[in-house]
Amino acid sequence: MSAFKSKFEDELIANAAYIGSPGKGILAADESTGTIGKRFDSIKVENVESNRRALRELLFTAPGCVECLSGVIMFEETLYQKTASGKLFVDVLKEANVLTGIKVDKGTVELAGTNGETTTQGLDDLGKRCQKYYEAGARFAKWRAVLKIGPNEPSPLSIHENAYGLARYAAICQENGLVPIVEPEILVDGSHDINICADVTERVLAACYKALNDHHVLLEGTLLKPNMVTPGSDSPKVAPEVIAEHTVRALLRTVPPAVPAIVFLSGGQSEEEATVNLNAMNKLKGKKPWSLTFSFGRALQQSTLKAWAGKEENVETAQATFLTRCKANSEATLGSYKGDANLAEGASESLHVKDYKY
Ligand code: 13P
Repeated sequence: MSAFKSKFEDELIANAAYIGSPGKGILAADESTGTIGKRFDSIKVENVESNRRALRELLFTAPGCVECLSGVIMFEETLYQKTASGKLFVDVLKEANVLTGIKVDKGTVELAGTNGETTTQGLDDLGKRCQKYYEAGARFAKWRAVLKIGPNEPSPLSIHENAYGLARYAAICQENGLVPIVEPEILVDGSHDINICADVTERVLAACYKALNDHHVLLEGTLLKPNMVTPGSDSPKVAPEVIAEHTVRALLRTVPPAVPAIVFLSGGQSEEEATVNLNAMNKLKGKKPWSLTFSFGRALQQSTLKAWAGKEENVETAQATFLTRCKANSEATLGSYKGDANLAEGASESLHVKDYKY
């Protein structure tokens, strides 16, 4: 049997296509309370609700930025938060034609008997939570599965388990009106070369699309959020054109054209690296049946966080810094970024953290 009938079918298709609109992308601002604490530590800001709210207000209301965004992913706490003047963030974004997304996974746990491989939790009660999030205004969701490259990794068990977890999550989201972002992140950690990353990415994506088909998921109402195909973090770097070629080839071999858009994660690349790599893909000649855009977390926020440093008097400068990254990435979705963004402090810094937990 093919895709199941959801009463939300038309809405899912329209929202997924909208998120993939060229010129726009996603801000991943869904750091869990623990993860945002690590970011705050780096700028010596206390991890309390008022500071988390202030950062998100700074991002969601930055002048000019919403034009470059089609979606924002939030952590549950943020979904119910308001601006200082009392307006729900969801409504602020809605008025700017930006869809709200919600992180619905509950993090990873180790798969017994493996070399530190993981599976993602959160399927129990997921349907009920999706219903609640839809009522609160969310229209898409994210679930992060994590795989790693090692001498014997990813194992067939990890590939299978994560593919079917993502597929089950995607089906539940679609039953409840949320466009699922399917995110099988292959970590950059390691000394492997780009060909190994390409091979692993192809195997993982092929398994995901088999699982999504088995679960009758409507591909037109989904988005894929993959890693870019790059050498490991302990290997020499390669040119953006090489990354673009290897990434697009891996995707062409595995991602059906029914999928409207591919929204990359930044995975510890510096802000500028992530932007020029995305730009190189969009400049690449040849067949590309989906739009290629961004769903960056670290690579959209690093220089903004530094500019803000938790101080009210820095909000305007921080918003201008954020606008620089938003515009550069918007241009990168069109292949028109000239590499001329005014690089703020932190924009070229590697954001790689070993065994990164979101
Ligand atoms: P990075 O762009 O920081 O890798 O994060 C995106 C994300 O949402 C990971 O789940």
